[in-house]
Amino acid sequence: ETIGSNLDRTAAAHPDREVLVDVREGRRWTYAQFVADVDQLARGLLARGVGKGDRVGIWAVNCPEWLLVQYATARIGAVMVNINPAYRTHELAYVLRQSGVRLLIASTEYKTSDYRAMAREVAGECPQLLETVHIGTPYWEVLTNAGAEISDEQLRAAEAVLSCDDPVNIQYTSGTTGFPKGATLSHHNILNNGYFVGELLGYTEQDRVCLPVPFYHCFGMVMGNLAATSHGACVVIPAPSFEPAAALHAVQEERCTSLYGVPTMFIAELGLPDFPSYDLGSLRTGIMAGSPCPVEVMKRVVAEMHMEEVAICYGMTETSPVSTQTRTDDDVERRTETVGRVLPHLEVKIVDPGSGVTLPRGEPGELCTRGYSVMLGYWEDEEQTSQVIDPSRWMHTGDLAVMREDGYVAITGRIKDMIIRGGENVYPREIEEFLYTHPKISDVQVVGVPDERFGEEILACVIPIDHADPPEQEEIAAYCQGRLAHYKIPRYLRVMTEFPMTVSGKVRKVELRRQAMEEAG
Ligand code: ATP
Ligand code: MG
Repeated sequence: ETIGSNLDRTAAAHPDREVLVDVREGRRWTYAQFVADVDQLARGLLARGVGKGDRVGIWAVNCPEWLLVQYATARIGAVMVNINPAYRTHELAYVLRQSGVRLLIASTEYKTSDYRAMAREVAGECPQLLETVHIGTPYWEVLTNAGAEISDEQLRAAEAVLSCDDPVNIQYTSGTTGFPKGATLSHHNILNNGYFVGELLGYTEQDRVCLPVPFYHCFGMVMGNLAATSHGACVVIPAPSFEPAAALHAVQEERCTSLYGVPTMFIAELGLPDFPSYDLGSLRTGIMAGSPCPVEVMKRVVAEMHMEEVAICYGMTETSPVSTQTRTDDDVERRTETVGRVLPHLEVKIVDPGSGVTLPRGEPGELCTRGYSVMLGYWEDEEQTSQVIDPSRWMHTGDLAVMREDGYVAITGRIKDMIIRGGENVYPREIEEFLYTHPKISDVQVVGVPDERFGEEILACVIPIDHADPPEQEEIAAYCQGRLAHYKIPRYLRVMTEFPMTVSGKVRKVELRRQAMEEAG
């Protein structure tokens, strides 16, 4: 099944149910209307000469048109390239060139971003880019009306030649450990993944899913949009980008049953002064993903937001993305200590990163996964692809994890972040969690820096609670003494005001290490 045929099947079963609501603009679509608009845009794209395999970029904040582009490109076998709306000209030009985008669909402007000016600026650097259409302008109308001459037969013919294994999407990784890589994903990859994520959340046509998370990321477009539409549920867009009050307002007004977010989004919602005044009684479930969730936050989400069935997911862009997920009846311990267990029809194993031998339960090693979710490969980069997907199609994630006795997986860090000090493997995450308990530390990141004697030494970068009274290295060492093994005690301390972050909100340890080394000379 392709994304287009799946949408048709759902729409045929529930033509009059809502599929899409834009709360701020007050626009709404039933499945029947949505399919009609998707088809109209698909015809427009065909009339513009966009066909199977052609790349269409989408560089936009959340809006209903984002979904129209997502499903219309899938319908005709074009490959949609997601571009982060926070990207500026340099990053935009890189992605457009690397993936060979010929038609770019973009926002006009939002807050301080002028997408028209930026798109004009890069046009000269991207010779294969033929056209840019900004949503909401007369050119968008022209594009959607361009296909009047394209018959139903022509549209169906364009879809009939597609296979579920054809590429449908290029998504870029966050660039936490290096340059973002373009993961090429097929209909089979992301449709199945969205379907199973929704299945484990118990989605039906009764569900209304509030998505304050960005669509350019797989969290929004696969775990959100595809999970909802493959079960006949409805996508609710609270605002073009995350605003805590808009998300809660949308839940209340649209009687949403599910709410997504990274932990910091839930923290912001719970922290609103008027939080208790929102009626969130319709909520049942949702997804928290992206980074580890503090126990207290999870308890409040369950109790005060009524999200008894909220799930934690683990995954990566290259695997569509989700590999493991907690189940609706898991307790708070499993929802905070683990990232759940493997999704149906996927395999997960933990291997020794050196020898590749599968490790027994309870032992940390590299998490590998295999099954329908593994990407086709990095876009036009076979060398990098063969570094992560082995000949038996196992994806080597680069993440360190433990498979517990109960089959639940706990993520312990990334291989690239692992420090080898004097032959001992040191996991930064363990030291970070310990240092969080220090009364002077607000945030902490632990990295390895080169050392002549031990190969690597441990550096703790800390953001103090009170900048007038930062902790000293000796103080930290004394605090660790007797509570952490001697080889895990940070040798160096760097006091900072903020950490270098990726646009998706992850700390760039590579950059932290570089800065520290530069400072040390
Ligand atoms: P790059 O590959 O470009 O360095 P990235 O790996 O951060 O960037 P993504 O594909 O967006 O890019 O993120 C996937 C990674 O996020 C995983 O490999 C894992 O390290 C981390 N991750 C995802 N979910 C979780 C989770 N629930 N708990 C802890 N870490 C997670
Ligand atoms: Mg990665």
